[in-house]
Amino acid sequence: MKLPIIAYGDPVLKRKGIAIEKDYPDLQALIANMFETMYAAHGVGLAAPQIGLSIRLFVIDASPFADDEPTLNDFKKVFINAEMLDEHGEKWQFNEGCLSIPEIREDVSRYPDIRIHYFDENWTEHEESFTGLAARIVQHEYDHIEGKLFTEKLSPLRKAMIKSKLDAISRGQVDVEYKMKFPALKKKR
Ligand SMILES: [Zn+2]
Repeated sequence: MKLPIIAYGDPVLKRKGIAIEKDYPDLQALIANMFETMYAAHGVGLAAPQIGLSIRLFVIDASPFADDEPTLNDFKKVFINAEMLDEHGEKWQFNEGCLSIPEIREDVSRYPDIRIHYFDENWTEHEESFTGLAARIVQHEYDHIEGKLFTEKLSPLRKAMIKSKLDAISRGQVDVEYKMKFPALKKKR
């Protein structure tokens, strides 16, 4: 089942997600729905706050990037209760987008190497290192469960330049091919 994606401006995107227990209701169905929603929107990652849930869960399928980075060919993963252990190296820029912020893409600076602790969909525990593009996608989704968006990492000038576009997204004034929930429209009802 495809779920509506929460648009920029909704407070749920700024809330830190809480850890979940093994008996979280219908977790496998939720994970399947998140993948379905992500694929339908042509995204490579989706975090629970983006479908309105303040929990520490995100899914990634980075295979669309396999042409540029062959190691991402089978990078399909579920991250439950992730905790970032370390980020290091020399920061690098990459043009990022976000399903909650359609039509905006900006260069974002991030560390190239990370180490993260998480559980997968079978509750198997992992402590793994990622680098480059894989690390970046994990960092972007991890930020979501920490209540952070990539737009907060931009320079004050870039922030000022995209502010009216961000406000327009909150009001639903954006052309988007997947289903979204817009905070400004919600309040009016
Ligand atoms: Zn995002």
